This record gives sequence, C-alpha cells and structure tokens, in this order.
Amino acid sequence: MTIAIYPGSFDPITNGHIDILRSGAEIFDKVIIAVAYNADKEGFLPPNIRAELIRDSIKDIPNAEVDCFQGLTVEYAKKRGADVLLRGLRTSFDFEYEMQLSQTNQALYNNIKTVFLITKPEYNFISSSCVREILINKGDITSFVPEPVSKYLNIKYGGI
Ligand code: ADP
Repeated sequence: MTIAIYPGSFDPITNGHIDILRSGAEIFDKVIIAVAYNADKEGFLPPNIRAELIRDSIKDIPNAEVDCFQGLTVEYAKKRGADVLLRGLRTSFDFEYEMQLSQTNQALYNNIKTVFLITKPEYNFISSSCVREILINKGDITSFVPEPVSKYLNIKYGGI
C-alpha cells in the first residue's frame, strides 16, 4: 500500500490544490492531505478550520484523508508510514523552490521521494494568497475555491 502525504498550508484550499489531490488519489492507494502549521505564526485561518473546509470539499474522494501537523514534514511522513510526498507545480518559480525543498527533505530522510504533478491550465494561476487578497477586498472568490470554502469565507468575511 503506497501512502502519499500532500503537505501544504492550504490557507485556504483552492481548486488548484483539489486538482492535484484528485490526480494523486488516482495514483496512490491513500493520500493524506496534511495542513502544516506553526503555533508561533498565526495564519489566515486556524489549522482546524482549514482542515474542516478540506474535509467538506473532498467527500467524494474515498482514499483521501485530512490531518494537521507541526514540525518537519519528513518526521510527520515517517510517523504516518509514508515515503512519498506529493506537491503541485504551476510555474518555473514553483520548480526552483520545490526542487530545493525536495532535496532538503531527501537529505533529512533518504527514503522520502517527492512526486510532482502539474495542474490543469485553468487552475494554474490560482494561489491561496490571491484568494485571501481578493477576499479582503470584497471580490468574488467563488470560481477559485471549492463551494464549502467560498460559502464559509463569504459568510465570515462578507464577500460576494
Ligand atoms: P506551501 O505553503 O507548502 O507552499 P501551499 O498550500 O501554498 O503550501 O501549496 C501546497 C502545494 O500545492 C505546493 O506544492 C504548491 O505548489 C501546490 N499548489 C498551490 N496552488 C496550486 C495550484 N493552483 N495548482 C497546483 N498546485 C498548487
């Protein structure tokens, strides 16, 4: 059984993240989407809310599970019995950063392998930071995020 960890901030999860998750769930037996957080650094949404919104958005993917973790991704992967990390690539900027991250993780834990998937073109430009920026300026985020996320954020932040 091959378990992959899909780690990230997911603050909030977007349609781009979901696209990568869906493809990952077709390749691996199980994908654990793991919300990384740092107790000393407050994010936009608290990690438990990010996780809950993800859970509500992926109900139709039976082999995907949601969890939260702090600390090193490789330590979390070891704990969960996973030696694959799943990450998404959008642009060459992502690639530069992701390559370094992948090599650092491999230097920390030799068994770990990072698998990169490329998102569909229509999701290529979407990022959590863009969604946050649109939201705080009261713009329409509905086409960028799954429905449970837009519902929650629009109610909470008074968007469209
Ligand atoms: P991190 O803080 O670890 O970069 P993110 O939540 O921003 O966490 O992203 C998690 C992963 O999802 C990263 O591999 C990132 O490149 C990928 N990702 C983010 N947005 C998209 C998107 N629109 N399409 C495909 N992959 C994406």
